[in-house]
Amino acid sequence: MPSDSALLPPFSAPYAPDDVGIAATLLGAAKLSAAQEARIDRVARKLIEAIRANDDPLGGVEDMLREFALSTKEGLALMVLAEALLRVPDARTADQFIEDKLAQGDFVHHETKSTAFLVNASAWALGVSARVIQPGETPQGTIGRLTKRLGAPAVRAATRQAMRLMGSHFVLGETIEAALERARPRSEHPSRYSFDMLGEGARTADDAGRYFDAYARAIEAIGRAAGANPLPDRPGISVKLSALHPRFEAVSRARVMNELVPRLVDLARRAKAFNLNFTVDAEEADRLELSLDVIAAAFADNSLVGWDGFGLAIQAYQKRATDVIDYVDGLARKLDRRVMLRLVKGAYWDTEIKRAQERGLDGYPVFSRKAMTDLNYIACAQKLLGLRPRIFPQFATHNALTVATILELAGGSGGFEFQRLHGMGEALYAQLGEDRPDIAHRTYAPVGSHRDLLAYLVRRLLENGANSSFVAQAADNTVPIDALLRRPADIIGAANRACHPDIPPPADLYAPFRQNSRGIEFGERSALDKLVAGIAAERAPAHKPAMATPQQAEAAVVAARTGFTGWSRTAAVQRAKMLERAADLLEGRGAHFIALLQREGGKTLDDSVSEVREAIDFCRYYAAQGRKLFGDGQEMPGPTGESNVLRLRGRGVFAAISPWNFPLAIFLGQVTAALMAGNAVVAKPAEQTPLIAAEAVKLLHQAGVPASALHLVQGDGKIGAALVAHPAIAGVVFTGSTEVARTINRALAAKDGPIVPLIAETGGINAMIVDATALPEQVADDVVTSAFRSAGQRCSALRLLFVQDVVADRMIEMIAGAARELKLGDPADPATHVGPVIDAEAKQKLDAHIARMKKEARVHFAGDAPAGNFVAPQIFELRDAGLLTEEVFGPILHVVRYRAETLDRVLAAIERSGYGLTLGIHSRIEDTVDDIVARLEVGNIYVNRNMIGAVVGVQPFGGFGLSGTGPKAGGPHYLARFATEQTVTVNTAAAGGNAALLAGGE
Ligand SMILES: Cc1cc2nc3c(=O)[nH]c(=O)nc-3n(C[C@H](O)[C@H](O)[C@H](O)COP(=O)(O)OP(=O)(O)OC[C@H]3O[C@@H](n4cnc5c(N)ncnc54)[C@H](O)[C@@H]3O)c2cc1C
Repeated sequence: MPSDSALLPPFSAPYAPDDVGIAATLLGAAKLSAAQEARIDRVARKLIEAIRANDDPLGGVEDMLREFALSTKEGLALMVLAEALLRVPDARTADQFIEDKLAQGDFVHHETKSTAFLVNASAWALGVSARVIQPGETPQGTIGRLTKRLGAPAVRAATRQAMRLMGSHFVLGETIEAALERARPRSEHPSRYSFDMLGEGARTADDAGRYFDAYARAIEAIGRAAGANPLPDRPGISVKLSALHPRFEAVSRARVMNELVPRLVDLARRAKAFNLNFTVDAEEADRLELSLDVIAAAFADNSLVGWDGFGLAIQAYQKRATDVIDYVDGLARKLDRRVMLRLVKGAYWDTEIKRAQERGLDGYPVFSRKAMTDLNYIACAQKLLGLRPRIFPQFATHNALTVATILELAGGSGGFEFQRLHGMGEALYAQLGEDRPDIAHRTYAPVGSHRDLLAYLVRRLLENGANSSFVAQAADNTVPIDALLRRPADIIGAANRACHPDIPPPADLYAPFRQNSRGIEFGERSALDKLVAGIAAERAPAHKPAMATPQQAEAAVVAARTGFTGWSRTAAVQRAKMLERAADLLEGRGAHFIALLQREGGKTLDDSVSEVREAIDFCRYYAAQGRKLFGDGQEMPGPTGESNVLRLRGRGVFAAISPWNFPLAIFLGQVTAALMAGNAVVAKPAEQTPLIAAEAVKLLHQAGVPASALHLVQGDGKIGAALVAHPAIAGVVFTGSTEVARTINRALAAKDGPIVPLIAETGGINAMIVDATALPEQVADDVVTSAFRSAGQRCSALRLLFVQDVVADRMIEMIAGAARELKLGDPADPATHVGPVIDAEAKQKLDAHIARMKKEARVHFAGDAPAGNFVAPQIFELRDAGLLTEEVFGPILHVVRYRAETLDRVLAAIERSGYGLTLGIHSRIEDTVDDIVARLEVGNIYVNRNMIGAVVGVQPFGGFGLSGTGPKAGGPHYLARFATEQTVTVNTAAAGGNAALLAGGE
């Protein structure tokens, strides 16, 4: 066990500090003498020339990418093909996939420039070769013609072979034994190796166990073949923490520390037994603090004393990189131990930018300009070199300028090494080996089967194909060498140019239209702790609001009707300002509303934060839309002497009836839309969540909405019915069940007087279709999120999963394994993934369905629920989709298998349900995706991602058929439906003549 895991306070540094401040420091420190710069130029130039002179007859992926750049349709098609083809087991889907991808690019007119074997083999297989495809043939049907000449199996086999070739370029061996054999020293200056076991992160306990065994076996094999040299001249292994635990995430910290630290210590001890280098890979920024907790605890274990091989990777694109170095150095000092530290630039830049935008963070944890990453890399390198010998720096890069700069800064050969990825940087390091045989370098060598290499392969293709990448530019002879020698400090120039001009801060994602709602990164401990403490400090309100009587409901409508006059005449810009003020107030009182959502709605922390953000977004979005739509009106074209203006105005009093599952976001969304359109509102929330509604109304009043324009009526369905039936109600907006929506519709139709519009959002039997080209790990993540998050109590939640039969067993097993890892319990605990269902009645209904399914369906997973209103995730396989006839509003997933040739029947079954709210598709075949999208009348379709969590203004939400009337909430057409239209025509020539026309003259 760790001797003292509280050795140092845990790592802490600002998550996403301002780029400009960092740039000022880095630019100040980047100055070298003219003589040093000249030496760097000389060394780097020689290395680049060697890269460009490299003439490998086999050709590498660089040649392939030169032939089909990722910025072209052909290059992208190739990458998608490479990512998925090898995992597709059935011929039909493989053929469809190949045809789909080949049809996307103009492969026919592409003349192969390269003489490299890999390029030509692939080009031939892809139907590019002029020997196979006659000029004049269109890409469409390429496979058809190829097939006639060659036969489908030959084309399929050849394409697969081409993809394998691409993969084998980056993988040293399919097994550790094969890899060790290939790594056997053959030259005078052999490379050191660090072996890596390929695979996606673990989703299940079984996955984690398998990865552990693979690492342990590999350490044994590497150790036996390691020879007698001392460290650092010994081979090593790289391990991924996410492969060793199925919930390697910040919120599961306690569990991760309990379960993962002993596993890591166990592996480290095995590595120590052979005195190997043991490096923990660096993963995404939100896992950095957690990774360092795990690493520190393992590193401090007494059993590892006396071994200098323990190490970790640090990413220089992260703004916290120097803080991490300081932390690791502090740890090593305190323990009086040595550590090996691999400095990389970072492999997940695109993912980091997207995540920060999605989560509405205050900034990015990574730099947004490549030159800043390069600059930081050099600053980190300098720091590491100064920390020798306590730290043994390992500089992982394929960039000749970076290599040359480090050589200059190192001032000698001792106490560090370079590292490269297998399949990359060969020519550079071969030249370096010739010029500087005293400089060691290590090759990071992935080991694994073709199926496991796909995600890794795509990362490398992206890396090599990105325009900004050194490897891509070095391979492009049209880029002058001088351009490659430009120093990062010169590229940045001044500190205020540190941020990429086209990558706005997350807060400005929708600027200038509106501000993005602020979110929080749970991976930042200080932010999470502050939020949790803030929530805990919120006291529960003393008593629940009283339910209204029918007389009070009646009185509210009458008062609202009076309030309407003043409100409808309040300028739109004023109404918009009130909504924006409400958004700001809500942002300031996030903890208060989160506490309410947890206590009254049983919502987990993640769900509560998202819901508060959604409510804020609704306020700002409708304010911005309202300014546009309800401003001065729209001038209509017409004859001279007349002005014609079309305006939108409120209809009167709207009844807003909302559900308990989004008691803040849907409630406020309905109310603010109706208000923005100039209506007075009587809002009736669900009887399960009256407090949240009461607080939300209070907030709107505080933001300036007059009490006369917004009235709250608490009550059950009877009160709702009384509101709907009231003669003064001019419109109804409702979210809830289809059945109640129908009742409302009938009640409105039965009323005398003006015809009253109904805007209804109802439920759905939402389906997801997964074919054999989909990535199982991605499917498992997305299915678990879509079906079980929020205890399945979302209208958008996945209910019916259709999986292609040839991959069904593996997919279902992974989904079930991932579901097993979800923690059910108190929603106030950040580690909880699934909270309770809303009430005992809901639980009873779900339990009854589960009991029926246990008899009628095949049970793949039946989780255990703690006492209380909890329902654990369940997975049932149905013989036929028709057996699910109604929406089951809980964490229950129904699975149906289908054969590729019966996809049509799947679509027909979805159509037969009559619902059309959300749909998920997991497929790499665009043709299939396009066909499904064109055919199915479904409101929100999500491809290759989860199918919940629609974002205001980004994925406007609402369905077809039994799922609602439209228009979509959070979309551009929503507000208009709450309004009525009026034109005002003025005869401007009435007072004697058309002065304006006459004044125009000739
Ligand atoms: C031995 C070895 C081990 C590795 N282990 C890890 C690991 O554990 N974790 C990990 O994440 N990566 C790891 N990598 C991958 C590594 O991050 C990339 O290979 C590396 O970034 C490429 O850097 P370069 O100097 O070769 O290329 P360059 O082309 O000079 O640099 C590419 C870098 O710039 C970054 N970049 C691109 N555009 C921008 C932008 N607009 N703003 C800011 N930065 C930008 C990229 O993300 C990338 O980090 C490892 C690499 C090697 C060689």
